Amino acid sequence: MNYRVRKTLNKMMSISRLNHVLWRYLPKGVYVFNYHRIGDSATTLFDRAVFSCTKEALDMHVKLIKQNFTLITMSELRKLIDKGSKVDGRYAIITFDDGYYDNYSEAYPVLLDNNVSAVFYLVTDFVGSTVTPWWDDIAFILRCSAGQSYKLPKSNEVIYLDPDNIDKAIQQVIFKAKRIKNFDILQVLDDIRKCFPSAVKELSNKQESLFMSWEHAKEMTENGMEIGSHTLSHRMLAQLSAEEQEQEIKRSKALIEEKLDITIDSIAYPVGRYHCYTQGTCEITDRAGYLIGFNNEPGRNNIINNPFDINRICVDEDDVNQLKFNSIVC
Ligand SMILES: [Zn+2]
Repeated sequence: MNYRVRKTLNKMMSISRLNHVLWRYLPKGVYVFNYHRIGDSATTLFDRAVFSCTKEALDMHVKLIKQNFTLITMSELRKLIDKGSKVDGRYAIITFDDGYYDNYSEAYPVLLDNNVSAVFYLVTDFVGSTVTPWWDDIAFILRCSAGQSYKLPKSNEVIYLDPDNIDKAIQQVIFKAKRIKNFDILQVLDDIRKCFPSAVKELSNKQESLFMSWEHAKEMTENGMEIGSHTLSHRMLAQLSAEEQEQEIKRSKALIEEKLDITIDSIAYPVGRYHCYTQGTCEITDRAGYLIGFNNEPGRNNIINNPFDINRICVDEDDVNQLKFNSIVC
């Protein structure tokens, strides 16, 4: 989506009373709205930035999307793409990444109430496990270490873990950690673990599962929801060898298909920004038998040249305590 379109959309969303009228005049294309966690972020010690919005806000979004777009499935999207022409209509898809339990407990009932389907992207290593992903591990450890400082590996930069602004400090560390050249994010996590052993001990006492189980996912598929792959381990594909990428992409598809007895048509690349996957990733996805591959780059899909490189609009709250519906087009 170019800057001018985005700015116009943003402006339109902010005039909430006019939303219902103005949304009818959005440019044609496929709009993929991507969510992560749903609920009150203030209740978690883990990564609060992964929360997209509250259950009530999601209900409002879903109603607005339903009223103003034609919601389509993965196979319908692939048919649109295979036509090869400009998208003639306003279509929407709602997706959720990572498979957190609140996707089942909070988002799924909202979707059912509104008679709307969505696609849930599962990380097979996370499903039904007590694993905490690297971003939640990092957030938990740094939150419990507020008041101390952390020096990023391969850098002289020291970040103060300000107790009054700890979420900002956590996001600063995660943002910079993702961009350290030739340094896997898991190596950064290892480094953080070594620096803050008492917080690691606190983390190890937490045994709750953050993620939905296979039974939850099965129930959702039986009630009209779609499931997709978010790989085996959520490692950033661009940092892996071609063989490792193939394993993540092919094996996760096979595993979900076996567990849920369904066909997996689509994948969402972990993190999904342009530096997190490659052209090779898209080719492996094609060869693995998927119909669709999603990134996490914002934008309306107008002419879709590559079904394995489709943009999604990430729904994020700028302020975790305040809903800002216009964030869906940022
Ligand atoms: Zn993810």
